[in-house]
Amino acid sequence: MSSILLAFLLGVALAAGAAWLVRSRATAARETRAGAIQAVARRYALGDLSRAAPDYGDDDLGQVARAMDQAVHELGRHATSLTRDRARMEAILSSMVEGVLVVDDQGRIQLVNDAARRMLRLERDALDRSYVEVIRHPGIVEQIGQAMNNTPTDGLELSLPRDRSRTLVARVAPVVTEGHGAVLVLHDVTDLKNADQIRRDFVANVSHELRTPLTAIKGYAEALIDDPDDQASRERFLEIIHRQASRMERLVKDLLRLARLDAGQEAAEYAPCDIHALAAGIAADFEPLVREKAQHLHLHVAAEARTVTTDPAKLHDILRNLIENAVNYTPAEGTLTIEVTRDDSDFHIRVADTGPGLPEADLLRVFERFYRVDKSRARPGGTGLGLAIVKHLVHVMGGTVTAANSEQGGAVFTVRLPLR
Ligand code: ADP
Repeated sequence: MSSILLAFLLGVALAAGAAWLVRSRATAARETRAGAIQAVARRYALGDLSRAAPDYGDDDLGQVARAMDQAVHELGRHATSLTRDRARMEAILSSMVEGVLVVDDQGRIQLVNDAARRMLRLERDALDRSYVEVIRHPGIVEQIGQAMNNTPTDGLELSLPRDRSRTLVARVAPVVTEGHGAVLVLHDVTDLKNADQIRRDFVANVSHELRTPLTAIKGYAEALIDDPDDQASRERFLEIIHRQASRMERLVKDLLRLARLDAGQEAAEYAPCDIHALAAGIAADFEPLVREKAQHLHLHVAAEARTVTTDPAKLHDILRNLIENAVNYTPAEGTLTIEVTRDDSDFHIRVADTGPGLPEADLLRVFERFYRVDKSRARPGGTGLGLAIVKHLVHVMGGTVTAANSEQGGAVFTVRLPLR
């Protein structure tokens, strides 16, 4: 009996020992996996989601670890896509010519692009500061305040205190997220305004230039109607009407040419051209006037520049305009010199005279439409468009034209055109 009991007790003890051994091994394995999971969690906390996760096992610990792992990877993908979106947004904002500034519901600047920094002359540390402290333009500050109170705002046109020459339009809109923030967009409309002003001036100038001959034509035509028998005046009046009508015709012709050039409808057509023959022909056209004014006209074309490939028709119009001006603005007995030279890449045409020259301050403006040094100096037949056409023609041919004064005081126009 006692040996049976002993065997039984031994069996129980062995079974208990075996169970303890199995459990303690399982615990050790579990603790090792828990340590591995902790290590992975630490790696994730440092932002390293790159390496593959270890085998978590199939028990409850493994299942929880796998679920957490998936959640972390999902969050990681969101974070990557947010970072990419932010980088894309920053690239867009920094390449924008419009200024953009965003304030949060506390009035702190959350975002500002380079254009807005430049336009508002903001300091580097503007981010996170209150817009009221940082933006020095009261109009914009007021509009942002209104937008934050959800009050609709109108666009605001302003020039900045430190650069009055530039005009900006500011538009502010509310941004509703958790609270009321605002987004400010700034457009630099200086070029648009200038273009609009140029267009207005142009229309005013055209109207004025057309009205002057039209008034003369109308007046003399009425005089002829009122007194058809006054033979003495008849011929003179008809001659005036004819001259004024020709002036209007020239003006309309020049305007149409400028419009064609503006619209890019006159492409260059290249062909070999004998510049000496071309210039001599134009000089011959002006010969009667040159002789009448007892002027001296010299033409020098360097042998190596004599034949060039260019657009002969356009070059003709350029030279004709410059020579005509030189003849007209140079007083009697003056000298006109036309010189053509070349270097490796270009040929140069210089038309110089001994006339009154041009005001130094207006050397660029002479190429503007309807620019005249002073109205009293304007010649009766001139349209004020000749040099504007010259500039366009030279540009179509890929060259440049400049105006200057010689040391003696006369005007010097230099045209540089590329050799082909
Ligand atoms: P316009 O038909 O009046 O001659 P342009 O465009 O050819 O028009 O010239 C513009 C203005 O530039 C002229 O009105 C004149 O005041 C000035 N100008 C042009 N060429 C000369 C020159 N050679 N000498 C002095 N002034 C000139």
